[in-house]
Amino acid sequence: MPSNKKLLVLPGDGIGKEVMNEVLRVIEWFDRKRLATFEVTEDLVGGSAYEAHGTPLHDDTLRLAMGADAVLLGAVGGPKWETLPFALRPERGLLRLRKEMALFANLRPALVFDALVDASTLKPEIIRGLDLMIIRELTGGIYFNEPRGIETRPDGTRRGYNTQSYTEGEIERVGRVAFELARKRDNRVCSVEKANVMESGVLWREIMTRLHQAEYADVELSHMYADNCAMQLVRKPKQFDVIVTDNLFGDILSDCAAMLTGSLGMLPSASLGAPDNSGRRLALYEPVHGSAPDIAGKNLANPLASTLSLAMMLRYSFDLSEQASLLEQAVQNLLDRGVRTHDITGPGMTGVSTTEMGKAIVAELERLGG
Ligand code: NAD
Repeated sequence: MPSNKKLLVLPGDGIGKEVMNEVLRVIEWFDRKRLATFEVTEDLVGGSAYEAHGTPLHDDTLRLAMGADAVLLGAVGGPKWETLPFALRPERGLLRLRKEMALFANLRPALVFDALVDASTLKPEIIRGLDLMIIRELTGGIYFNEPRGIETRPDGTRRGYNTQSYTEGEIERVGRVAFELARKRDNRVCSVEKANVMESGVLWREIMTRLHQAEYADVELSHMYADNCAMQLVRKPKQFDVIVTDNLFGDILSDCAAMLTGSLGMLPSASLGAPDNSGRRLALYEPVHGSAPDIAGKNLANPLASTLSLAMMLRYSFDLSEQASLLEQAVQNLLDRGVRTHDITGPGMTGVSTTEMGKAIVAELERLGG
């Protein structure tokens, strides 16, 4: 059956290739069962693209990404390319991809699987059952705005400066993503800024409130200052459903929320662009972790962060919620049965390899839905 769902797979470097092999195994299973069929194209990014083309992102690859309904990425980087000029480093390939695709909304779920409750540094009762989503604005704010720089002042001392600013449109479009996502979850949005000390925060709060009243009054909206949010995330994280915030605060708060779950090999992410007239939006799905040079090539990497990124793709790019839930259920069942890679094994458990985990996912899918 031909598919009209175009998927670009970019394994990248290090364990990116290893985990993506297992994701492809799952995609093939969905295809075989006719539960989701994709037209899959594979290409290079990062260090592997540099080796082949002398650039971490070839223009042809970018064109493929712009024409795809979704991009799935492994990870980029490695010691081999650390001494390259900044513009040629693997990470620049990924940054360019995110920028050119104008992916302004970064979604990072923090989900604690019951079986992994002890992997967190927090007490089990604080994080058991945790399921929150942080939406970080990704293309605006202080990381991108001008003016920026380091200048020498008349007295010879230097001053470093950046500009925090947000337009109404930038706030509104990320706010919209948050409200729409909340409707598919527990219907609650917490908007986070520092309206007490920053004008950009005052506008942020005003626009979120206006958008809420105009279009999303059915969703519960609350506001919180970013410093309080950091505290609440470790004090009582289960109070949150969807958190939406700017680039800077989102960078910090999403890392904080990620560590509530205690395990890098389990964390998926999605980055979304604006929908076009037909409702199609560019999207990139990738695990939060990097290329892990310390374990690359050893068949030790945990493929679950990438697998859960695939589940996000099924849900958010293709509206295939049933298939996404099936995949998440398969992951949960394996964890419950103690099937774990080395990074998440508990005392007395033996870890499985990357490939064994991939095969176990497919076997579990077969058992559940085949
Ligand atoms: P990393 O995420 O690659 O690794 C940190 C630690 O976590 C390592 O000990 C690693 O073995 C472990 N780990 C990570 N993912 C794992 C998995 N799936 N299973 C088991 N263990 C896992 O971060 P790093 O070491 O700081 O960076 C290594 C390289 O990756 C650098 O070149 C960095 O620039 C790059 N990087 C890329 C991305 C990306 O592609 N999005 C993100 C972060 C870092």
